[in-house]
Amino acid sequence: MAAECLDGKLLAQQIKDDLKAQATALFEETGERIRLVNILVGQDRGASFYARSQRRAAEEIGIDYQLLELKESVSEMDVMSRVFDLNADPAVHGILIHKPLPAHIQDQILSNCVGIEKDIEGMNAANIGNILLGKSRVIPCTAAAVMEHLRAADVTLRGAEVVVVGASEIVGKPLSLLLVRQFATVTVCHIGTAEAGKLAHHVGQADVVVVAVGKPGLITGAMIKEGAVVIDVGINKVGEKIVGDVEFDSASARASRITPVPGGVGPLTVVMLMRNALEAFRIQKGLA
Ligand code: NAD
Repeated sequence: MAAECLDGKLLAQQIKDDLKAQATALFEETGERIRLVNILVGQDRGASFYARSQRRAAEEIGIDYQLLELKESVSEMDVMSRVFDLNADPAVHGILIHKPLPAHIQDQILSNCVGIEKDIEGMNAANIGNILLGKSRVIPCTAAAVMEHLRAADVTLRGAEVVVVGASEIVGKPLSLLLVRQFATVTVCHIGTAEAGKLAHHVGQADVVVVAVGKPGLITGAMIKEGAVVIDVGINKVGEKIVGDVEFDSASARASRITPVPGGVGPLTVVMLMRNALEAFRIQKGLA
C-alpha cells in the first residue's frame, strides 16, 4: 500500500492561521506590529524567490517585512555595522541574513553579530548552544519544520530509531539534538557514512528517516524499512523539476508516511521563521 503523504501546505496554512491570531493579539496588547528585516547581499535569483515567499507569509500573518539589499561588493565590516544598527533599532524585532553570502563575508561571524533576541533564524552561536542545553526559544527553521511534521503526524519519537542523513549546521545537527530531547535514539549519517558504505545499513534500521543532503535519489525504497516514516528535506533541481533526496515512488511503496517534494518540508520552513519572529517579539517585550 502506498504511504500516506504528509501535506506540508495544509499544515503550513493551519499554523499561519494560528500565528495570525497570535500576531493580532500581540498587536492589541502592545500597540506594535512585528517587523522583520532580511539582509540580502548581492544578486541571487534563488534569494529573491525565498524573499518573496517570506514576504507573502509575513503579510498573511500581519508581520511587516523589509528587504535590505546591499551590493555584492559591500565589505564585511559594513554589513556588520548594518546588523548592529538593526540590533539597536527598537522598531525591528527580527533580523535575517540570506545565505549564501559572497565569499568575502563569513557566515557565522555575521550570524553571531545578530542580537540573540532578534536572531529569528536561530543561527547565532549562543542560540545554537541553547538547543544543546534545551533552553532555546528560537529554533533553526528547517529543523523546526521537520519536528512540526512529526508532531502533526503523531509520530512516536520516544524510543524510536531515528536516522538523520546529513549533518549540516542548519539542518541535521540541530535536528538531531531536538530529536534526542524527545528521547529518540538518533543516528546521524553524513558523507563519512556514505564513504564507509554504511548508509543503507543505518537507514534500513530506522523507524523514522530524515534526509537533508542535496542529492536527488540518494535514498531509495529498497533502503527503507517497511512502515518507516520518511521526511525528505532535500530540494534539488533536476531539469525543470524540483525533487527531494528520496526516490519518492519506490520509497512510498515501503514507507507508512512520507513528505513530498515540493510541498512537504519547504512550506513549513517559512512558517517556522514567522513563528520564531513572534517568539522573538515576545522575548523582547518580556511576554511569556
Ligand atoms: P549541506 O551541503 O550544508 O550539508 C549536506 C550534508 O550531507 C553534509 O553533512 C554532508 O556530509 C552530507 N552528505 C553529503 N553527501 C552525502 C552522502 N552521499 N550520503 C550521506 N550524507 C551525505 O546541506 P544543507 O544546507 O543541510 O541542505 C541539504 C538539503 O536540504 C539541500 O537539498 C537543501 O536545498 C535542502 N534544504 C531544504 C530546506 C527546506 O526548507 N526544505 C531548507 C534548507 C535546506
